[in-house]
Amino acid sequence: MRRTFLTLLLLLVLPVALPAAVQPVFNRAPLAEVPYAELPLGAIRPRGWLLDQLERQRDGLTGHLDECYSEIVGDNNAWLGGDGDTWERGPYWVDGLFPLAWILDDAALKAKARKWVEAMLASAREDGYFGNATDHPYIEGQQRGKSHDWWPKMVALKILKQYYMATGDPRALKVMSGYFRYQAAHLDSEPLDHWTEWGKWRGGDNLAMVYWLYNQTGEAFLLELGDKIHAQTVDWTGLFLDGECLRTQHAFHCVNLAHGFKEPVVYWQRSRSPEHLAAPDKALGVIRTTLGLPTGLWVGDEMTDFGDPVRGSEFCTISEMMFSLEEMLRITGDLRRADHLERIAYNALPTQATDTFDARQYFQQTNQVACTREVRPFVTEHFGTDNVFGLLNGYPCCTCNMHQAWPKLVQNLWYATLDGGLAALVYAPSEVKATLPDGTAVRLEEETAYPFDGLVSLTVDFHSRKVREAAFPLYLRIPSWCTDARVRVNGESLAADIRPGQPVRIDRTWRRGDRVELILPMAVSTQNWYGGSTVFERGPLVYVLKMQERWEKKAFAGEDRAQYGPYYYEVTSATPWNYGFSASLAGKHAYSVQVSPVDAYPWTLSNAPVSIRVHLVRMKYWVPFRGNAGPIAYFAQDGRDYEGDEEVELIPYGCSTLRIAEFPTRP
Ligand SMILES: [Zn+2]
Repeated sequence: MRRTFLTLLLLLVLPVALPAAVQPVFNRAPLAEVPYAELPLGAIRPRGWLLDQLERQRDGLTGHLDECYSEIVGDNNAWLGGDGDTWERGPYWVDGLFPLAWILDDAALKAKARKWVEAMLASAREDGYFGNATDHPYIEGQQRGKSHDWWPKMVALKILKQYYMATGDPRALKVMSGYFRYQAAHLDSEPLDHWTEWGKWRGGDNLAMVYWLYNQTGEAFLLELGDKIHAQTVDWTGLFLDGECLRTQHAFHCVNLAHGFKEPVVYWQRSRSPEHLAAPDKALGVIRTTLGLPTGLWVGDEMTDFGDPVRGSEFCTISEMMFSLEEMLRITGDLRRADHLERIAYNALPTQATDTFDARQYFQQTNQVACTREVRPFVTEHFGTDNVFGLLNGYPCCTCNMHQAWPKLVQNLWYATLDGGLAALVYAPSEVKATLPDGTAVRLEEETAYPFDGLVSLTVDFHSRKVREAAFPLYLRIPSWCTDARVRVNGESLAADIRPGQPVRIDRTWRRGDRVELILPMAVSTQNWYGGSTVFERGPLVYVLKMQERWEKKAFAGEDRAQYGPYYYEVTSATPWNYGFSASLAGKHAYSVQVSPVDAYPWTLSNAPVSIRVHLVRMKYWVPFRGNAGPIAYFAQDGRDYEGDEEVELIPYGCSTLRIAEFPTRP
């Protein structure tokens, strides 16, 4: 009696930790077996700096976009039943708002996101179609036509999938199934590019949701629909294997390329053809020496171009490439995708929005010495507004699409594994709760200052006090940059074959309080990028010249205000930036690295947790040009266009706003 009472009391006192009903689902035959499956939304919680980052989104634009940008994502949006915007921007926002709300378990945010989901579910028609069906005449700044376009539905489908992963509500499956039947019946007469071209470039997103639903329901027609969507999508496999488009200027819209990477891999689950896995590999190899940037992205200031560090890179490219890499990682288990994901998330992502998440850049530059309203060398220069921080400057797609990047990173820190265990493939402070196949609820806490420091500590716990031990395999990623990783279990070195780029599998009976320590020594190295420039790296981070920053908030006036929003920030500096790297200073290249604890928001100049002192030479002829680091030979074989060396400080790219990341290289 007393025990029952205690149990009841415990049940009342303990927080309800596990989302009900939803469990990880692996691929269903005939789709290829995959090693990892996504955990329910809410099972992984951020801790430390990552929680801080998500709370900044909650307090900033993600939590308040309906107030700051009410004309597009307010109650008049057509997805909510109004006669406003019918197209991508509403779903874009909710695709990030929804996971943020559930990951933070925030009631107010959940209510905001749920309103959109309920409207989507309620819009489903008898014939399976859902979403907007009425076109309205053009109004400046709104996208009110082409309501039947397949493309914005692809974003909405991602939201419905996440809604199911959070709640287990079967209505989501029913609406998706009905819509896919509608799509199957209409794609012959109205193919993916019937209304706009975007659908044919981004069909991989549509396909991923078709296979996700197939794994849930097993409805055979979904496989045939998938074949049709693949056939109507741009032939990314052919383009990547050929490679010419990645050695050509202006071959793609930059964001389409980010979408494109996942398509061959998603389709591989159906085809099992090696070329579908080889294609993105080949493309990434080509990009490294053509379009690529050291942030893991590529030059794309509307159209793709060669990797000049003063060219632009769009925020949407970050969001979409991260999502593509997350899909590719889970499907293939190829840990290079996790390395790449961290490279983008921990370098490019933190700097393209302000610390308070109240403004973002449309384009960021790798070598960025001023964020000012000036005409820059971009394909679309939007009256000089592209690289200042504001609400709608440049173009407003990113204002809505930037929200998914951090929450989905959280959702991909941990996976369930096919052999009944858990995998930590991307590192950040976090906590995961998962149910093992035998029903045991396990909890793992990950304490770390990663990516600034290479020590990752995991502690095992169980939901029920009655459970003392449980056997399951735990997988840890060894990053490909780390050649001397070590693993300790309860203080003892793990005797295992530990190799860069491979997972370590620890299969044992875990007891409460067991502790795993992953030690990833981070050495400073240099890499050569655009024109032979020198880039400093340490672990997953790129290190850049530290420059003082002067932030100034300004107002857009007149017509600019209507188009670009009420305010923007300019960032300038009096710090000299024209430094280069000279190989002759090799003797002075014993880099002095100082690592501080991460006890405040790390992605900002004043709190940068890591500082590296290096000797660089002053490039006397390298001068500013219209707010940019001016033209220069990034590599020169002879002559002496530099002065003596100075010791300067490098900080993580993600902590900088103004920086030199690619230093001219001299003998
Ligand atoms: Zn964008």
